Amino acid sequence: MLVNAERLTTTLRALARFGLNEDGGVDRASFSSADRQARTWLTSWCEEQGLQVAVDGIGNMIVSSPELERGIADRAPVWSGSHIDAVPNGGRYDGPLGVLAAIECLTRLQEEEVSLERPVRAVVYADEEGNYAHLLGSSALARGFTVDELSALVGRDGDRFADTFTAAGGDLLAAARVRLPQGSIHASVELHIEQGPVLEREGLDVANVTGIVAIGGGTLRFLGRADHAGTTPMDGRQDAVLAMADFVTRLPGLAREVGDTSVVTTGIVKVWPGGSNVVAKMAEVVVDYRDPSTEKAAALGDLIASAAQDAAHRRGLQVESHVEPLIPAAPLHETVRQAIQASVQAHGYSSRDLPSGAGHDSQNLATLAPTGMIFVPSVDGRSHSPAELTHDADVVRGANVLLGTLMRLAAAPTA
Ligand SMILES: [Zn+2]
Repeated sequence: MLVNAERLTTTLRALARFGLNEDGGVDRASFSSADRQARTWLTSWCEEQGLQVAVDGIGNMIVSSPELERGIADRAPVWSGSHIDAVPNGGRYDGPLGVLAAIECLTRLQEEEVSLERPVRAVVYADEEGNYAHLLGSSALARGFTVDELSALVGRDGDRFADTFTAAGGDLLAAARVRLPQGSIHASVELHIEQGPVLEREGLDVANVTGIVAIGGGTLRFLGRADHAGTTPMDGRQDAVLAMADFVTRLPGLAREVGDTSVVTTGIVKVWPGGSNVVAKMAEVVVDYRDPSTEKAAALGDLIASAAQDAAHRRGLQVESHVEPLIPAAPLHETVRQAIQASVQAHGYSSRDLPSGAGHDSQNLATLAPTGMIFVPSVDGRSHSPAELTHDADVVRGANVLLGTLMRLAAAPTA
């Protein structure tokens, strides 16, 4: 059985209109007006297909087929979902692919009146990209939030989650009640773009994701002394920028020391007081480091912390650090990985195993149920940018693999 290629690629283009900017990028932060419009459109699209849309207390959308669920609606369902919110000036595929492919699969199962042993549902997770909190909707399902935690969330633009959410018709008390008990989902599978260059470079159709990397990070602040740029000799300075620069240039070596799967990034640096004629008294750098192994990521975190101390002390500076708790790696489940592999083989596609270097809602779902992910190639490995592109043929192959996987997980006949 195959998805309807024309319908899927058309809906992908239709969804991309919401929040589309002049650069061809998408501005569709969760709970923004573009996001709300996209949700309204998506709801009518689902209803036109005879599907039903429910929204939980925090804004996760759950799409089901009443027709397919006749007699089995109370059994633990197979979920397939992703997100439709985007990073600022983001791409058209990161998230929407997984959502629209899941809806397309559900539509096809319904059209063919496939007999299932358990429901298949398509899910849209709220605020995956973390306008307010990274993986907000799926974190609520996995662990829940208190009203206080939700009230403390502030968006990228400085708005309070509580204000935006209630203005959009949400209810904080209902949001705080969202949480799924163990065993309520049978399995979960997410189709997503790779967001990296490996599949394209190797000429492969899809990846069967092995797990999601452990992610650590934090903010390091080098505390020196402000001095006159002209009158302070070079050897009498406590220059915060030099200490920070020394630290930053050591990081690639530390990642290599831990292993060739480790990565470390310093995407934000700030300097005080910020005058061209003033030796900087303070420099701050935000570090993000990842590895498929939680142990290796932890080891890299330790090396990073001692390198910061060393770089500071060599120049007579102090260093202050604010360390985020390490998010452990989420290995994906063998049962789901085997269903994906069987579907890949049945379609005659080429594939490889690949870890995910990016975080996904699936890492939360993996704490609730056996979970897997399918990647399709990203042109030039580009993502989180208007340049993000996945060719239609790859979109369709990924959705076909998803369909076969869902049929296997929901125990539909897969001849
Ligand atoms: Zn995504």
